[in-house]
Amino acid sequence: ALYESDDLAWLGGLAHEVRTRQNGDVVYFNVNRHLNMTNVCTASCAYCSFQRKPGEKDAYTMRIEEAVRLAKAMEGEHLTELHIVNGLHPNLPWRYYPRSLRELKKALPHVSLKAFTATEIHHFETISGLDAGEILDELIDAGLESLTGGGAEIFDWEVRQHIVDHNTHWEDWSR
Ligand code: SF4
Repeated sequence: ALYESDDLAWLGGLAHEVRTRQNGDVVYFNVNRHLNMTNVCTASCAYCSFQRKPGEKDAYTMRIEEAVRLAKAMEGEHLTELHIVNGLHPNLPWRYYPRSLRELKKALPHVSLKAFTATEIHHFETISGLDAGEILDELIDAGLESLTGGGAEIFDWEVRQHIVDHNTHWEDWSR
């Protein structure tokens, strides 16, 4: 039915039916809070109001202790998931990222770490010389539990070249 119908309300009804059958009236909430460790980015996507160039006013990069302190401050809000995305920083070493996850997981062991877009994983390949498989293995070992979906807005190259100026094409994202 998912592949054959474009009737979203009807599909939503089917999903609700299955959910109700399995969980009755019980609903679970995921308390997701965002942590952006740096807004410094070499790219300039047309839709992005977040990125800053190195040295620009408001540009920031957190020390790992600072990121942990901020995450700990959100704990009181019944935090269940940290959502971490960053700019494509030109100088931060690859090691910064697994170290950050490791420290965040140590400080908040019960909080799920959803971190990095596929665009960032591709960026890590460039700065580390490792391939995506090795990078993901190391990040998972450090505490990564899921990736975020960012960077997948529009894959058609004709359109994409007008909205993003980094090198992550749909083939890289998909890989
Ligand atoms: S790569 Fe991400 S942070 Fe950088 S400009 Fe694009 S959307 Fe913004």
